[in-house]
This record gives sequence, structure tokens and C-alpha cells, in this order.
Amino acid sequence: MELGRKLLERYGLTHSKRLGQHFLFDRGILERIARCAMPLSEDRIVIEVGPGPCGLTAAILEICKPRRLYCVEKDVSFEKLHRDFAADHPGKLEFIYGDALDIRPQSLTSNQNFSIIANLPYNVGTKLLTNWILDPVGIGKMTLMFQKEVANRINAAIGTKAYGRLSVISQLFCEIERLFDVPAGAFYPMPKVDSTVINLVPKRTELTTDDINRLQNLTENCFQKRRKMIHTILKSKYPEPVIKETLAQCNITPTMRPEEITPSQFLRLVRHIFRDLALIKN
Ligand code: SAM
Repeated sequence: MELGRKLLERYGLTHSKRLGQHFLFDRGILERIARCAMPLSEDRIVIEVGPGPCGLTAAILEICKPRRLYCVEKDVSFEKLHRDFAADHPGKLEFIYGDALDIRPQSLTSNQNFSIIANLPYNVGTKLLTNWILDPVGIGKMTLMFQKEVANRINAAIGTKAYGRLSVISQLFCEIERLFDVPAGAFYPMPKVDSTVINLVPKRTELTTDDINRLQNLTENCFQKRRKMIHTILKSKYPEPVIKETLAQCNITPTMRPEEITPSQFLRLVRHIFRDLALIKN
């Protein structure tokens, strides 16, 4: 930690709360995250979001040995540190400055099987994950650190309090492996909460963009009213006979609440309402 603080000092860097800057300097933890990202695909292309002072970047280079590592950072005050770091790793690294929310990973590489590795900033972690899950072309595997509460939601079991829209979307579109927790005290500055590292591997699906958009709308609508019965939620949008037919087709009891409906039942629901019954309305 002391060495990390000195590094920031040397470059006149502080830390921004707004950018979710809680840095990791513990080599053991950083190397463990990098090991969880192994094996890389044959082409060994990695994208890191938010390299900051390059602790995780160094571990990725050492453990994963990528052919090329693209690093997307919003905070340009790291530029000098990044330039010096890149000089020690010629031909391996490219730093891109901008908001990861606006940069599709696919625009950085034409490679069709790359990995994303990141200690994600808390404030945009969920949004970034949703973007990647719903636009997964080329993403082979994601090794990501989230605040523990978000990791719990991603991986939540049906019927639990944490089960919601993020769980449905993540579990429908990815194989998820929860790896390990990192205590708040391991970060500088120390956040209020612990973190968790997880692996997500996008599944091959035959969903259309329309299916995906509709699924997003439906789950958003349902989990905003998570204590209501599914029949009541749908009643505000669709005619009674459609609801009855749809729920029966999907093996969903009308009195079930959103938190009791499995991810695949949500998908069937979307397909049945919009595709089979051709009720084109979001
Ligand atoms: N990877 C470093 C580590 O593990 O110590 C830093 C992780 S820190 C939790 C998050 C990093 O993401 C910071 O460097 C921050 O500046 C950067 N960041 C925050 N918001 C971002 C965004 N929207 N796009 C790209 N980078 C962002």
C-alpha cells in the first residue's frame, strides 16, 4: 500500500470519489484476479477498463501474458504514469482515454474472442456490465470486480431479496462463477463496502435485438413492482385473454411475483407476448 501511495504522490495524483477510484496495490490479490482470467483465448487479446495506477495492468501482463492489452481510462491525469508504464512494455499496451460507457469494446479490436478484465468503478459497474452482456459479440470472458452487493445481485438465487433485473439478464446471457471476496481494507482509499470478483462467460443465444430490448423493458417494469402479482403487473399493459394464454403457456401461475419467476420463464414470457402472439408493443 505504501509503495502505491508513493507512486501516486510521485505523479502528483490524488483520488476522485466521483470516478470510483479505490485502488488496489496488494500484489497477491492483483495476481489472484489475473489468474482467474486464465486461460485466455488463443489470440490473447485483453481489454482492461479503468487501469488507474496500473496495479492490475501489471498483474495482467505478468500472469496472463496478453499479446495486446487495451486499457480504457476516463481520468486523463494518469496519462504521464501510463506513458512511463507503457515504455517498460513496448508493443503490448494501448491506452485509450474516454468514458468506457461510450466505447464499445468491439471498436478497440476486430478480434472475435477477447477478454475483459477490470476492477470496476462502483458508480458505473452495473451499467457497463449490462452494456457488455447485451452486446456480447467477441467477448469470450469477463473477469470483473464489483462491490459485493452488486455481485450478490448478479448471482442471486430466485426468490431471494437480491434477485432482480440484473440477476435475470446476467443469468440468462452468461455462465457465472463467483470467485472470491476482497475486503474493503485492501483498497486505497478504503471504500465503505467489500468487493467480489466474478467470472462471466457469455452464452451463445439466438436472441434478436428486439427480444433483448423487450426483455429489458419487461424485467424493468416487473421488478419496479416486485411485490405485485405478475397478473396484476401485466394487466396494465395487455388484454386479459393475452395474459391468461401467455402465463399458461409459460407455466407461470398468475399469482406469482416477479421474484419467483426464473430467467428462462421471463424469456418465454417475452417471446410469447411479442413473437407468438405478435403483439408488437413494448
Ligand atoms: N485498476 C485500478 C486498480 O485496480 O487499482 C483502478 C480501479 S478503480 C476502482 C476504477 C478506475 O476506473 C479508476 O482508474 C477510474 O478513473 C476509472 N474510471 C472511472 N469511471 C470510468 C469510466 N466511465 N470509463 C473508464 N474508466 C473509468
